Amino acid sequence: MSELTAIHEEAREIPVRAKTDILVVGGGPAGIIAAQAASKRGHKVMLIESRGFLGGNLVIGIPILGFLGRKGNQIIKGLPQQFIDRLKALGGATEHRPCPLHVSLTMINPNLVDRVAWEIMDECKVDVLMYVFCAGVIKDGNKVKGVIIESKSGREAILAKEIIDCTGDGDVAFRSGVECLKGDENGGLQPPTLMFNMRGVNLEEFRREISGNPDKYEVDTIPNEFFKEDKNFVLVGLRNLIIKAREEEGLELPVSRAIIITGMRKDEVWINMSRVSGVDSTKPESYTHGEEVSLRQNGDVVKFLTKYVPGFKDAWVDREAPFLGIRESRRIVGEYVLTGDDILSCRHFPDVVAVASYPIDLHHPKGGDCTMKWCPDCYDIPFRCLIPEKVDNLIVAGRCISTTHEALASIRVMSTCMAVGEAAGKAAALAVEEDVAPRNVDISALQKALKEEGVYFRDQA
Ligand SMILES: Cc1cc2nc3c(=O)[nH]c(=O)nc-3n(C[C@H](O)[C@H](O)[C@H](O)COP(=O)(O)OP(=O)(O)OC[C@H]3O[C@@H](n4cnc5c(N)ncnc54)[C@H](O)[C@@H]3O)c2cc1C
Repeated sequence: MSELTAIHEEAREIPVRAKTDILVVGGGPAGIIAAQAASKRGHKVMLIESRGFLGGNLVIGIPILGFLGRKGNQIIKGLPQQFIDRLKALGGATEHRPCPLHVSLTMINPNLVDRVAWEIMDECKVDVLMYVFCAGVIKDGNKVKGVIIESKSGREAILAKEIIDCTGDGDVAFRSGVECLKGDENGGLQPPTLMFNMRGVNLEEFRREISGNPDKYEVDTIPNEFFKEDKNFVLVGLRNLIIKAREEEGLELPVSRAIIITGMRKDEVWINMSRVSGVDSTKPESYTHGEEVSLRQNGDVVKFLTKYVPGFKDAWVDREAPFLGIRESRRIVGEYVLTGDDILSCRHFPDVVAVASYPIDLHHPKGGDCTMKWCPDCYDIPFRCLIPEKVDNLIVAGRCISTTHEALASIRVMSTCMAVGEAAGKAAALAVEEDVAPRNVDISALQKALKEEGVYFRDQA
């Protein structure tokens, strides 16, 4: 008897759980801001999220990069800035600090993200539904009319006039038949990282040692002086210590440079040092493998830090991120594909909806190192990157918008994802009002609505 490799699933009726004007799928940085922006024009908005908290990667212990441009001016404003202001009011965010390597750093307390996001959703009367996974779409010709969700209650439908895909992985777009690409020319994806934090770090000693001994501690691009001030920082480097620890202790350290990020507390840092090459988050067996390997790597990273890095002798692991963080998976093919050249040439587009400046920051798919390329100022993200080819009633926001592998390595930072989310939310609201497909929204009306919210465009002072 031949082995069974597929089964036939019977067609069945499923209940319609909800009908809404605008449905946002995914409650990460792009999704939270998209839902808020969409609701501000008085429409009925629903946000669905597969996990039990809002924030996506905002909760894994990374700073928000990219609020400032290369010239030091603030280029991400509007609703993303209002989100930071709310966090700041609770003591959960720092100022935007210019950084020679990362352009700008904004530290946040990941524990407060969920609370702030909920406050906003409540104020905006966004109907939030958690613990539901978007597992399919309902289509009528080229139009996406809704999604199928799976939960403990089974399979249900949610119908919407417009849908915004903020899943990071482009799940809604992929299931709607939108062409999606993955990785570089060989399909290589930037590797994921399981973040964790350490408390009990003597940051005073760390700062003093690093800034006082530039020959001993190799720091990438950032002058050692930067660490002297009692301010937030991201340290990238210590290559020589990593080589030493591998030789002396045989530690499994997958990166050639340490990334150490100050937290919001005086004795706290977040560590970004595990890397698992070849992980594809759209394949559960691959994602599972990544979780297991990164946990093991982090064990050796802790041994490295406590033995070789000044200030870490008495430090302990306080919290591991709730999931393995994904840098790259699907990218949709949209009406325009943003390229590395567009970024490096600071390109202007007539249908600009967000401005960004973060460098092309590529963690090599095969592991080891990272390459960074900066544009001298900032660049535009055109609305067409949010619009999938052929499929209607669907807008995409966040890291899965239409870019090349190289351009994704720049637009992926969270301030940019939030800004793109804001544009997507406003565009969805206008599409409902104008009763047109998102691709046909009046661009000047969209830009005007964004400017009214305080969004930065380069024609402004
Ligand atoms: C290790 C690491 C370090 C990074 N460092 C930085 C940094 O220092 N600074 C910075 O600004 N950026 C950094 N980034 C990049 C940044 O975190 C991401 O690119 C960004 O968060 C993407 O935002 P998003 O909203 O598109 O997706 P996500 O943050 O991934 O959010 C997507 C949300 O959708 C939900 N979801 C997914 N699929 C479904 C589904 N089918 N149904 C329902 N819900 C779903 C998820 O649960 C999640 O909440 C880093 C990324 C990683 C992985």
